[in-house]
Amino acid sequence: MTYSKRTKGIHAGVRRSQFGELSEAIFLTQGFDYPSAEAAEARFQGGTGPDEFIYARYGNPTTAMFEDRMASLEGTEDAFATASGMAAVSGALTSMLQSGDHVVAARALFGSCLYVLENVLARFGVDVTFVDGTDLAAWKAAIRPDTKAVFFESISNPTLEVIDIAAVAALAHAVGATVLVDNVFSTPTYSRAVEQGADVVIYSATKHIDGQGRGLGGVILGTQDFIRGTVEPYMKHTGGALSPFNAWMLLKGLETLDLRVRAQTATAAALADALADRSDLQRVIYPGRADHPQAELVQRQLGAGGTMIAIDVGDKDRAFKTLNALQIARISNNLGDAKTIVTHPATTTHERLPQDQKDLLGISAGLIRVSVGLEDPEDLIADFTHALNA
Ligand SMILES: *Cc1c(COP(=O)(O)O)cnc(C)c1O
Repeated sequence: MTYSKRTKGIHAGVRRSQFGELSEAIFLTQGFDYPSAEAAEARFQGGTGPDEFIYARYGNPTTAMFEDRMASLEGTEDAFATASGMAAVSGALTSMLQSGDHVVAARALFGSCLYVLENVLARFGVDVTFVDGTDLAAWKAAIRPDTKAVFFESISNPTLEVIDIAAVAALAHAVGATVLVDNVFSTPTYSRAVEQGADVVIYSATKHIDGQGRGLGGVILGTQDFIRGTVEPYMKHTGGALSPFNAWMLLKGLETLDLRVRAQTATAAALADALADRSDLQRVIYPGRADHPQAELVQRQLGAGGTMIAIDVGDKDRAFKTLNALQIARISNNLGDAKTIVTHPATTTHERLPQDQKDLLGISAGLIRVSVGLEDPEDLIADFTHALNA
């Protein structure tokens, strides 16, 4: 029987101890007690079943529950949990690449992802070509017969451009390249990335999966071959393991993920509509609106607009005044949280980008990124209306 994601988010991957605890247990142990010297030897020789652990850097029962639940939700064979979203991004890329390899990546990336691709991989002799992710001709021109991997965020931060997973995957697969998708803004709730052609799906679990701003986590999802053959040997020796406590926190987050993301999406749609009615804004970008440049792709790929909005209020002065006048929405840089969060990317998350890059990516001085939370939609609309009128 196949269950929906909403059901899997609550039950998939559960391992119960001899006590039959209903809520998932936190196994705060880094080591495991072997029944005999022979058993220890057998485990180190690789004879480990799903419930035979060696050391928490390699795996832990609570972490394994989170991995199995995520793999079930995303529809992949396996998953590896990591200490943060960036441990997942860097681990997935570094575990599979070597000096001389060629990678094509979308230019509109989360700052730290850009750093890994542009600075870290380059230092190890990996050649990275950046393209405008929405331009299929650019992908086609950049992908070479020897391209090893393509990497992109399925919805870009902060301007919410959507990249066509199926179309990019078709180009990449034609040359045998691996397709890695950072899927944070799409969320596991709306993702169908694997059926659309992604080989590896990556989440910062810090965002919607925790959803309550408590701690860091990440996950790499893919085939058993990729996860256990490529990712695990790299991760377990380089140390980006997720803590069992955070794995437990994320398991609790997954129980309510579907409800939260759908409620936040409904509120985001209502807020975007209310904002789009105003004549004093330069831009209101919401993937779920019919006026989004890729509205058709959004419906085909995700079926919903998600929890993020971007608005351009004209200039930095008005952006700061608006941020400062908001009473419910908090000024921060997390996203996917129960609390509505507003960010001024040009002076915070994307501050380090040179002006020509900001211009290229549409990160204007008046741009505000809104991560819509779980508050009452009417209260939020009133908060933004009041702040924009101030
Ligand atoms: C936040 C984020 C990351 C990094 O995740 P951390 O958990 O903060 O390390 C990577 N990619 C995207 C798109 C993100 O939003």
